[in-house]
Amino acid sequence: MIVDSHNRIHNYLRISLTDNCNLRCFYCMPEEDYLFTPASQLMQTDEIRKLSEVFVEEGVNKIRLTGGEPLVRKDAGKIIRSLAELPVNLTITTNGTRLHEFVELFKEVNINSVNISLDTLHEEKFKLITRRDQFTNVMNNIRLMLDNGLSVKINVVVMKGLNDNEINDFIEWTRDVPVHIKFIEFMPFEGNRWTSNKVFTLQEILDVIAGKYLFIRLQNDAHDTSKKFYVPGHKGTFAVISTMSENFCGDCNRIRLTADGKMKNCLFSKNETDLLSALRAGQDVRGLIHQNIKRKAKELGGQFSNDFEHIDVSEINNRSMITIGG
Ligand code: SAM
Ligand code: SF4
Repeated sequence: MIVDSHNRIHNYLRISLTDNCNLRCFYCMPEEDYLFTPASQLMQTDEIRKLSEVFVEEGVNKIRLTGGEPLVRKDAGKIIRSLAELPVNLTITTNGTRLHEFVELFKEVNINSVNISLDTLHEEKFKLITRRDQFTNVMNNIRLMLDNGLSVKINVVVMKGLNDNEINDFIEWTRDVPVHIKFIEFMPFEGNRWTSNKVFTLQEILDVIAGKYLFIRLQNDAHDTSKKFYVPGHKGTFAVISTMSENFCGDCNRIRLTADGKMKNCLFSKNETDLLSALRAGQDVRGLIHQNIKRKAKELGGQFSNDFEHIDVSEINNRSMITIGG
């Protein structure tokens, strides 16, 4: 078992397949002309499989593929097929632009739930946020997933003044369509123009929804990062990931592997362990995993607290989100 010094058991691995992406969401990828990591420095298909096997032997039973955009990687299909052979619940977080190329594979390997990012229901605003013209494509692919019986969770990063006025439009969407909306509080990463006054908190989100809908809290599953709710009569549900205002670190079971093979024990951890170089050098990866997890901070990588109004972003030592893997 992978246990940290706060007695948290870690059974959920999030693997970033690449820091490359076909969108340019400003809160995730700092610069338009960002230089992607060369393919040779990324974990190769067999290396992802080997590292995953070690994690599984140590108790991991859930793997989420993320990025960058995991589905822009040329060998994404091969990686998915390979990991689907392991005894894990395999899921994916994607921007949705390439899903039409993968729907048959998902059905074949029993991926029955996908998280798709969509921060706005307006085409022009989508272009503003992502700097690319892919709104219709993403909406069509959401429909395609639903038509093929997959469960669809929609990740919405809520930013004050940008899309907080659309919260109830997303809730309205759940009336007749079985989508599960996950509102995410805006988080600080290197170069992402984060300021505390752009954070729209859990409480603010619930207040907006309460102005129009009656909703009920759902029971949380163990290790849930989100607080879940539903509006009676609606086919979909909604949830809020309140990293900034009310963190869920006490129950954390997550480990991250960046696309260049570095283990991070928290989204905000300063320290990384280079598992890929160790694997390539024939060293013991297992020992490194346990050493790394023992250094896991109690909350938020030890970098800040829920007193987010007082965060000094210049003091946060971390990669940008696109290079970590969300
Ligand atoms: N490309 C895929 C996508 O967009 O879903 C997967 C990678 S993306 C980094 C994973 C998730 O992180 C997305 O839902 C994205 O909205 C979220 N994310 C990125 N930057 C964020 C930030 N600064 N605050 C909160 N969520 C963020
Ligand atoms: Fe790409 Fe996803 Fe980051 Fe947007 S959030 S830039 S789609 S990796």
